[in-house]
Amino acid sequence: MNTAWLLELQNLQESQKQELVFKCQKTELSLLPESYFQEMRILGSRENLLKLLDKIVLPGQVKRLERCLSKYPHQENIQSPYEFTVKDQKIKQGSLTLVAGPCAAESFEQLDLVAKHLHANNISLMRAGLFKPRSSPYAFQGHGSDAFEWVSHIRKKWNIGLVTEILDPKQAEGALDLIDIVQIGSRNMHNSSLLKEVAQMNKPVLLKRGFSASYQEWLLAAEYLLHHGAKHVVFCERGIRTFETHTRFTLDINAVAVMKELSPLPIWVDPSHATGQRQWVLPAARAAVAAGADGLLIEVDPAPLKALSDSSQTLYLDDLKKIAALRDLHHYVKQSLN
Ligand code: PEP
Ligand code: MN
Repeated sequence: MNTAWLLELQNLQESQKQELVFKCQKTELSLLPESYFQEMRILGSRENLLKLLDKIVLPGQVKRLERCLSKYPHQENIQSPYEFTVKDQKIKQGSLTLVAGPCAAESFEQLDLVAKHLHANNISLMRAGLFKPRSSPYAFQGHGSDAFEWVSHIRKKWNIGLVTEILDPKQAEGALDLIDIVQIGSRNMHNSSLLKEVAQMNKPVLLKRGFSASYQEWLLAAEYLLHHGAKHVVFCERGIRTFETHTRFTLDINAVAVMKELSPLPIWVDPSHATGQRQWVLPAARAAVAAGADGLLIEVDPAPLKALSDSSQTLYLDDLKKIAALRDLHHYVKQSLN
């Protein structure tokens, strides 16, 4: 073990200790960003750090810290446990993952055409709802398990991954092989029993923000997933409810910067549900990329005007070129930050 960088804890200044305690208390520990762990490694050896923390933080947090630190052996160039790859796409903070597709899977032909255009634009992940959480019980609820066969064909034909929402773990029975990323919808972010069950599916999870959830509540929902076995969690800001009724929701662009500071997990943005109107989706998507979003989830359809759900916010397949072009903006933003 290279101990050259270790400092004796006794040499820590009181203010540094206080700072560390503050950080530990402020955020659930497994969600602390990589940089905090680096700092901890500088502050002291794991054993000494735990001894110190034993005195100054709650015992429950020491346990949690121990669990977190065990993921971080004392080595240089540690790969974050929060990075993962789906369909050759590296998903992590600092990458831009593009996901597009219809609000709901409506037919094989629809999915086939969408996948063809995604492929042409070098996008390897498709979104498509099989089970739709609709406000009205009389609205189209998705084709459910009838769509499994379409999805299975499309995945093989185009080598494309599927991001789809699960409302109830029973829905995933027999379909787990078809799903690359399980989406937890905004209405279910607070559903801790669903979070616990999804955590055990051994799939990456896209955790949408509850539209009235604070950052802390959102972080804790991720903590449920991580605590119960999920290895990979991605946040998705999808707009919050405010006094403004002109747009469907209000895109909280702050969330991108704030969540990055509070957590090492990637944060994506869904400008479709945030705005609710197709003419505002691309401007909101640009803002998200400029703010540092690590991914975008966007609704597109071969016939948006006929889509059975979220027609007004759904883009045309031709718009995929503009979505793909956001990679240049991402590149520019990254360059300008360095
Ligand atoms: C969706 O992505 O189709 C969806 C229903 O999103 P949300 O849960 O954010 O409303
Ligand atoms: Mn939708």
